[in-house]
Amino acid sequence: MTDIFRGWYVTDAEAPVPTLRTDLTLDDLHEGDVVVDVACSTVNYKDGLAMKGLGRIIRSFPSVPGIDLAGTVVDSASERFEPGDQVVLNGFGVGESHSGGLAECARVKADWLVPLPEAFTPLEAMAIGTAGYTAMLSLLQIEREGVAGGADVLVTGAGGGVGSIAIALLAEAGFRPIAVSGRAELEPYLRELGAVDVVPRETLTETSKAPLGKAQWPAAIDTVGSTVLANLLKTMAYEGVVCACGLAGGADLPTTVMPFILRGVRLIGVESVYQPMAQRELAWRRLAELLPNERLAEITRVVPLGEVPAIADAILKGQVRGRTVIDVKA
Ligand code: NDP
Repeated sequence: MTDIFRGWYVTDAEAPVPTLRTDLTLDDLHEGDVVVDVACSTVNYKDGLAMKGLGRIIRSFPSVPGIDLAGTVVDSASERFEPGDQVVLNGFGVGESHSGGLAECARVKADWLVPLPEAFTPLEAMAIGTAGYTAMLSLLQIEREGVAGGADVLVTGAGGGVGSIAIALLAEAGFRPIAVSGRAELEPYLRELGAVDVVPRETLTETSKAPLGKAQWPAAIDTVGSTVLANLLKTMAYEGVVCACGLAGGADLPTTVMPFILRGVRLIGVESVYQPMAQRELAWRRLAELLPNERLAEITRVVPLGEVPAIADAILKGQVRGRTVIDVKA
């Protein structure tokens, strides 16, 4: 790693769209006790917003966007890590209130780092990233709520990052994932990942005043929110479990209490940023057990650092399939 490195950088809230700089130094980054030579990062939906200066994602200026990173420790004032250790980081406000992963170098707190699981290369860890980790947290919730193995589990926004990995994980964990997608052309891809059926998004976008519909689904992972989540709630089976983890379709929730008080539907929020370390390590262990590396490769595209704005545009338009890894050295 050289003293001067490349990275996306945003100087202040008045000009919140990051630019690619080739002259960054450690002094341009927030404080931290570990310096990481970043190998890969990724573009999640939230990074798409940050790259466009939307959603007030970056909250401490100047900064580097990117909520995920994987690489090698080059300097450490912490006893937990030493130079040469491979690490992965997602969340804890990195890429939001602390400089993030879309640069060749990062300086972060040791408490935020997870040792890279042996099963994964840095590239594979970023193919998972916050999106895959959130899919895993959702599956853990479904298991904790006691949903029976072999049950149908609906996944909305199935063609996206969280959705694609959720389908693959559910299939490996013994559930029957049913993909909900707005892109009919993705059906072969979603079935290859393990979906037993693919349902058009329109089945969940109708607005009807009826407070309940036919009770169908024992469990669901929702990455979309808004009308789609409201319709899901109406059609969950008795005591069905819905993990709400996203808002790709909107942050509102036009529902009534009927699914909860007449069918005992359980709506569970999934939050990835501030999960305690034990939960993170559990999630990464299960990811290593459940996600075959070749399955990850099917989901993933790798692009160089300069292409981040184009990926950001595409993810905000709902056009990205699966996951995009950023090779920050390319
Ligand atoms: P992606 O853009 O990769 O996937 C979202 C998918 O949602 C799209 O691919 C599309 O799938 C579907 N979609 C897009 N727009 C709409 C729309 N207007 N109406 C209905 N469906 C739509 O994003 P990610 O998978 O990275 O993230 C998904 C969501 O999860 C985001 O809102 C993100 O902010 C959130 N998230 C939350 C986390 C947490 O901590 N709770 C962590 C990570 C992500 P298709 O074309 O197949 O229908």
